[in-house]
Amino acid sequence: ETGQQVTAAISLEVDDAAMVARVACRFTCAACGEGYHDDFKPPAIAGRCDRCGGAAFTRRADDTAETVAARLAAYHAQTAPLIAHYRRRGVLETIDAMQPIDVVADNLGRIVVPGTA
Ligand SMILES: [Zn+2]
Repeated sequence: ETGQQVTAAISLEVDDAAMVARVACRFTCAACGEGYHDDFKPPAIAGRCDRCGGAAFTRRADDTAETVAARLAAYHAQTAPLIAHYRRRGVLETIDAMQPIDVVADNLGRIVVPGTA
């Protein structure tokens, strides 16, 4: 305990199943590193990188549904008590992180950018 007062906390609210799907379906071009997603951003031509034409793709070993689910479980175990604590103190801002990414970023920016609070 540093003695510092937490004056604001942010909770990103996500649906676990959707989060697992989001993360576990990512892959990247092995040649140029371009990022793709099975559902949200597949290559225009299946199996062919849009940017460099490469045909080899990699998936991060830690992006499997199992590891993402494990990370979420750890998150809930460690973070849920904090969220309840900050909510009781009235300093918790919640953001629906299932919205489009630019909307989430916008909401985050409004909360954390100095001078706008
Ligand atoms: Zn590529």
